[in-house]
Amino acid sequence: MNIDSIQNGIVLDHIAAGRGMQIYDTLRLQELDCTVAIIKNVKSAKMGRKDIIKIDETIDLDLDVLGFIDRDITVNIICGGKLTEKRRLHPPAQLVNVIRCKNPRCITTVEHSADHIFRLTQGERPVYRCIYCESAYSN
Ligand SMILES: [Zn+2]
Repeated sequence: MNIDSIQNGIVLDHIAAGRGMQIYDTLRLQELDCTVAIIKNVKSAKMGRKDIIKIDETIDLDLDVLGFIDRDITVNIICGGKLTEKRRLHPPAQLVNVIRCKNPRCITTVEHSADHIFRLTQGERPVYRCIYCESAYSN
């Protein structure tokens, strides 16, 4: 991949094809002043097709949220035109106000000021559960 165009910034690589826009929205990249490029349907030996996001500035990314959306995304930190760091993502143990509980009887539905908190629980497969009513989160 060509990262020559970036001197200092972040490249999100190995995004599942078609998901670039969702990540752009979730991370609120439209609020940045710097150049942001979404490159869609890049050919990838590993994935067939993938999306890439280039951010032309070193910003504080919410890696927890990224890890929740897709832990297979690679976060490349570019400094002085060189790749200086590759960060792997991990699903966060806890999510605060990222997803909402869908249980109509949950306190977070009734109490609008309550934080929406989910914890990752290990079972047959990892599931995020509301800490108030234990409802499992599903997409
Ligand atoms: Zn709940």
